[in-house]
Amino acid sequence: MQRDGPCPCCDGPRHRARSVTPSPGTLAGMKYLSRAVATALIVATVSSSGGNLPVVDSTVRPGDAFYQYVNGAWFKATEIPADRSSISDGAILSEQADQRTRGIIQETAQDKNATADAKKIADFYNAFMDEAAVEKLGLAPLEPQLRAIAGIRDRKTLSRVLGSQLRADVDVLNNTDLDTDKLLGLWVAQDLDDPSRYAPFLLQGGLGMPDRDYYLDDSPATAAIRAKYTPHLAKVLGLAGIKDADAKAARIFELEKRMATAHSTRVESIDVVKANNHWSRKDFDTRAPGLDWQEYFKAAGLGGQSDFIVWQPAAVTGLSALVASQPLETWKEYLTARLLEHASPYLPKAFVDERFEFFGKTLSGTPKPRDRWKRGISVTNIALGDAVGKLYAARYFAPAEKARAEAMVHNLIAAFSRRIDQLDWMAPETKSKAKAKLAVLKIGVGYPDHWTDYSALDIRPGDALGNALRAEQFETHRNLAKLGKPVDRSEWVMTPQTVNAVNLPVMNAMNFPAAILQPPYFDPNRPGVMDYGSMGAIIGHEISHSFDDQGAQFDSTGKLNNWWKPEDFAHFKEASQKLAKQYDQYRPFPDLALNGQQVLSENIADLAGLSVSYDAWQLSLDGKAAPVVDGFTGNQQFFMSFAQSWRDKTREPALRQQVITDGHAPDEYRADTVRNLDAWYEAFDVKPGEKLYLAPDQRVRIW
Ligand SMILES: [Zn+2]
Repeated sequence: MQRDGPCPCCDGPRHRARSVTPSPGTLAGMKYLSRAVATALIVATVSSSGGNLPVVDSTVRPGDAFYQYVNGAWFKATEIPADRSSISDGAILSEQADQRTRGIIQETAQDKNATADAKKIADFYNAFMDEAAVEKLGLAPLEPQLRAIAGIRDRKTLSRVLGSQLRADVDVLNNTDLDTDKLLGLWVAQDLDDPSRYAPFLLQGGLGMPDRDYYLDDSPATAAIRAKYTPHLAKVLGLAGIKDADAKAARIFELEKRMATAHSTRVESIDVVKANNHWSRKDFDTRAPGLDWQEYFKAAGLGGQSDFIVWQPAAVTGLSALVASQPLETWKEYLTARLLEHASPYLPKAFVDERFEFFGKTLSGTPKPRDRWKRGISVTNIALGDAVGKLYAARYFAPAEKARAEAMVHNLIAAFSRRIDQLDWMAPETKSKAKAKLAVLKIGVGYPDHWTDYSALDIRPGDALGNALRAEQFETHRNLAKLGKPVDRSEWVMTPQTVNAVNLPVMNAMNFPAAILQPPYFDPNRPGVMDYGSMGAIIGHEISHSFDDQGAQFDSTGKLNNWWKPEDFAHFKEASQKLAKQYDQYRPFPDLALNGQQVLSENIADLAGLSVSYDAWQLSLDGKAAPVVDGFTGNQQFFMSFAQSWRDKTREPALRQQVITDGHAPDEYRADTVRNLDAWYEAFDVKPGEKLYLAPDQRVRIW
């Protein structure tokens, strides 16, 4: 639903395994935690007047600047907190979820009867909070890895070290998480050609900055960031007591720049058909020489695997060739730097500060680091997300709200089905295939049916970094263990305490976590129209991801299979391209426009989600007129609630980073999709000549 954003613990790029998922266990055992925790919210702005209609900015016309019209008062009253790169309703709710999680952890730490999982959460969090222990340990927890790097003496040992670092740290189609600081990233998911089995997907990686553009693009804003990167690397090496840091940093940058040159672009990387490349184990030796693949896969725990899906084949070929062509010494310097950077959130303060200096300040424009406890909650959620989520959902997600959310999802699916029936451009055969797909959607509301079993994860008091590294390894083993087992469609890829929602296109499933199903998105104490404008549009958005430019390529079994009649698909493509062109026009900065193709899937989902939610709301009225509130008609309330749910303020560097790297357009432009709906024109009497006005034939209608 929302953008992935930077790493929650340091505002830098994400830097470790993230997706969290289930195995046996139920909520039943959690009754001991049913006492309410009194944790005062420190974020004043959460007093969410957002639940209801806003005070509008009457200095602008809705048809000229709808986003400003709805949110002007909020913009005026809201400052971005110094420790954040942006502020939005989602961010405020995330802060609230963090506060609640802290309360749960503190309570657990004192509970003599805490379960093994609850004890792990407390130990993990407390180890991170024990700064004295972190200072005292210094780099000691990295010793085994530093020794392995120092012991590299040929391509074979280099390949072995690179393989030992492979982690399940990317997720292409669900969380659209494409980045890893390791040479390659691993995603274990359903084979796109045979969704009954899991396959290992390999993705390009290895960069320290968030995208190839940061190495190659010549715009002044990007060049300014690049100029600070090499000194940053030198500083990190210097902090570790490494000599000749400047010369080494310069060589590391050159190696990363070569990697960036080999990388595919964002737009290339989201083309599923181009990415679905099945390679046998032997193909790696012939198509991507350089790495000793035998050693690499053995060290990665994939020695017995005979087939893979290589997402960006040209990049894998290019990266592997660098293993042969670049000096071993440079590789060793590079691996040392990457290891230190990766570990920095858990290292002594000097490393944490330097990481924030570059990734927080320079790359995101954030003035001040987040409080350590907030980073502690973030990293605990990364390592033990399901264990936290089980406690969180038991306490903060009432069964009545689960039922209400399930009913809303049901209404949205019914509205989508009617929409398919009414499409005038689609042939009956294609319609029945689309409806078959809709019928199999597996909807998860609040929390998963099964939880991850953490019994094999070793968490030790006083060992913050060791715990984090073991958690990454645990997550990787958990994913590798799926290979060869039946596919579990009930698996979640988000935790209940995440303020977000997700469509899993290959699983034909959706997750709506507990933490987003609450005010101001979802509120039992206000007119239903407001919920349809915000949460309804979010649910509709996720449903329609099954029918966006990517999702529409998977059939009802999850197979990558074009189920469309050619003329229907041509119409769909043409309408999609019209939407891509609409978004190409938006320029957040004079020197930076959106890339309509890069954000197309999300924009199709936004447009379809809003349209379907509008229908579902109309159906829910059952022929009765919607009540007028504060002088606003039902239609007006619906669209205002939508634009309000996207209110957001983002610092310039972070906004630029989003435009370059993200599949989601900035929130303002997402809200502006109202201009494609006829009902919005009627609601606000929008006329030709106003800035957002589109002639009827220019309005994009896809679903
Ligand atoms: Zn989305």
